[in-house]
Amino acid sequence: MTQRTLFTNAHLLDGQNAAVAGANVVVEGRHLTHVGTEPVQVRPEDRVIDLAGRTLMPGMVQSHFHAAFGPVPDPSPPSLGLEASSTYFGMLGVRNAKLALEHGVTSVIGSSNPAGLDVSLREAGLLGIAEVPRIVPCTREFIASGDYADGNNRSWFMQLGEHGALRHVNGVEAMRQACGEELGRGARVVKLSIARGHGVAPTEDHSYYTRGEIEAAVDVANTHRGFVRAHCPSAVGVRMCAEAGVRIIDHADRIDAAGIEAVLEAGAFITPSMLWTVSFVRLSEGWDHSAMPFPINVGIPEPHHEVLERIDGVRRDLEYTSEMVPKMVEAGVKLLVGDDFGFPMMPHGDYVSEYEIYTETLGIPPLVVLQWATRNGAEAMGRGDELGTVEVGKLADLLVVDGDPSTDIGVLRDGIRLVMLDGEVVRDRLEEPAS
Ligand SMILES: [Zn+2]
Repeated sequence: MTQRTLFTNAHLLDGQNAAVAGANVVVEGRHLTHVGTEPVQVRPEDRVIDLAGRTLMPGMVQSHFHAAFGPVPDPSPPSLGLEASSTYFGMLGVRNAKLALEHGVTSVIGSSNPAGLDVSLREAGLLGIAEVPRIVPCTREFIASGDYADGNNRSWFMQLGEHGALRHVNGVEAMRQACGEELGRGARVVKLSIARGHGVAPTEDHSYYTRGEIEAAVDVANTHRGFVRAHCPSAVGVRMCAEAGVRIIDHADRIDAAGIEAVLEAGAFITPSMLWTVSFVRLSEGWDHSAMPFPINVGIPEPHHEVLERIDGVRRDLEYTSEMVPKMVEAGVKLLVGDDFGFPMMPHGDYVSEYEIYTETLGIPPLVVLQWATRNGAEAMGRGDELGTVEVGKLADLLVVDGDPSTDIGVLRDGIRLVMLDGEVVRDRLEEPAS
């Protein structure tokens, strides 16, 4: 008989509803077989974990995950996947995946990476040679010629056939070929770069890709049981992506009312990922520009006044997004958590800092943000029927947490005591003294 794990006396956050006290949850093999406040008959071979009021909740989903972002030996441009060897990025990816798991992330949705890293990490997990969350692997970031990341990262003059985490794709046929190739090699998400902004420079209301190119990507992704996500901080881009069937619209900084409508109509998801822009603006506000050039640049030299204008543009975009995110919540848009972790000022593992922008700065209830991190993430993976909530029949991806994240989301920073992935305990700090 399969050994059962019984979590008793749990403060249950099931991923959808308000907390329930005194819950009992049974895990049998990989699945949840009981969830509720009724008592459970204990069998002699059961492992019983009395949670004594600790929180039990679903494992979290980082829905914008860059496996290769992090410290590199040479941080100077060109950026994004050319700063080190593929071997180095492989090691960085293993470290980042492990950090995510330790911080309660049981699933990630990739958002571009070099050298097939996401696919390799997933394989390494399946073969038992690395400890990784569930991974929905992503392609490289497909960019049109002229994309902001194109000439600016200087890789062009190196005449490299391989552009690290980026891949030039122009035209419908080339799009079909690039999608087919990378999806055929194991990716399940195609990443498109639609517009500039939400990075080191202000947004612009444009789209690098045509409607036809975006639809081609969606069509090929569908045939591989995959989907498309898009770096898309422009109003016109949001509308076009939603209408073309892009599942995850990243950033959406300049979304307007028509964009919200299109996203709702399509059932698409949005990853606001505000931690990066907040961190960028904070750094710039404290920077003494007379003492030293601002260290986050566009890769090409700029006169000082242009640097200041660029920073100011990013700040205005952030102000606009800060007003739009609560409006999206009110309208019923399905939001996700995830950001460019591994970038400066936001190391992998510090995922709670993003959540706190929504709860503390924007005043969104923590329970709502937890739904983005659990139920919505699972739906975006296309696995809402198996993951994302604590319900009978679902897979056992669970966390035990000291404190109640639905009233103080910050307890997720140091309070995670146990991580269960697919019915297996992969982290157990239940007996350690509280930090
Ligand atoms: Zn990103």
